[in-house]
Amino acid sequence: MTIEKLARINIQKLMPYQSARRLGGNGNIWLNANEYPQNVPFKITKKNLNRYPEFQPQNVINRYATYTGLKPEQIIMHRGADEGIELLIRTFCCPEKDIILLFTPTYGMYSINAQIIGIKCHSILLNIKNFKLNFHIIEKKLEHVKLIYICNPNNPTAHTFDIDDLKKLLNMVKNQSIVVVDEAYIEFCPKKTLTSWLKNYNHLVILRTLSKAFALAGLRCGFTLAHASIIQLLLKVIPPYPISTLTEDIAKQALSKKNIILMQKRVKKIIHNREWLIKNLKNFLGIRKIFHSDTNYILVKFDNVKKVFLAFKKNGIILRDQAHQPGLQGCLRMTVGTMKECKSIINTLEDFLLKKIELRN
Ligand SMILES: *Cc1c(COP(=O)(O)O)cnc(C)c1O
Repeated sequence: MTIEKLARINIQKLMPYQSARRLGGNGNIWLNANEYPQNVPFKITKKNLNRYPEFQPQNVINRYATYTGLKPEQIIMHRGADEGIELLIRTFCCPEKDIILLFTPTYGMYSINAQIIGIKCHSILLNIKNFKLNFHIIEKKLEHVKLIYICNPNNPTAHTFDIDDLKKLLNMVKNQSIVVVDEAYIEFCPKKTLTSWLKNYNHLVILRTLSKAFALAGLRCGFTLAHASIIQLLLKVIPPYPISTLTEDIAKQALSKKNIILMQKRVKKIIHNREWLIKNLKNFLGIRKIFHSDTNYILVKFDNVKKVFLAFKKNGIILRDQAHQPGLQGCLRMTVGTMKECKSIINTLEDFLLKKIELRN
């Protein structure tokens, strides 16, 4: 018997999440993980690493409560939004019985966590023309569904869902399922947050992170926002010391009034760069579609995606291929970085694709 056979069958069969870091690559322009392009400096002020950290650092929770307009008891802090995804499944889903519902194409970690824990996962395709929810299919698929993951804005499509559709979904599953809205990119379209709905929907859960607009992907810090009774359940399941002293130290600084304003300035700059990039991408033939973006990344559909991907790679620009996602053949996802990085995207395409103007001449 090989030792691998001792692992649970679902782990033996599991294809792990192909994170940007795991995929690796050689390049100097990293636009494949939707990170902020530059380091934002912080000071380490806590020196007592001989002691265990606080279970839930109250000063950070209080600041996040102020930032979101919620009460501290509606917030739990964990290792990135990814741990929140897992905590919810472990808290609410019974193997062999409960089902998780998600809408593809979307972020991969919902189904990976379900597979690891051994929970069945149903994927319903978004309407491929406009990425809207297919309610006539959803209605028929709700039996035994405990958790519904919806990513808003959605990764990798970069779109946000209609407010009315989100309301319809929440009303449809009241007293039956929990709706988890992943708001990892909400700082790029802050008006679209559903935090104000928490008071009306006790089955709504919101995931947040410091990894994207807050420029702290390396810190591994995320939050789940929900009704206090859901937070109480999650607090039973989370490990005893989930947040390192260093994470607490830096998260607290990142959530100061001053640093939130700086974050919002950075967001403005990224949105400016995004609009510049979109405007310039529009000049090329061989680009089938540039999808609308409410985030710090753009989904682009190319005629000859393999060649384009390799051309970028040759120039040291690492993007994220989305060809494996349903309905996204030919699509690459590009993070919006610095202006210099945006320009190198355009420069690469100039060497490679014809411009519309050139054809007319
Ligand atoms: C990046 C990302 C996450 C993970 O965030 P971490 O806080 O770094 O774990 C979660 N959801 C979506 C949609 C993401 O794109």
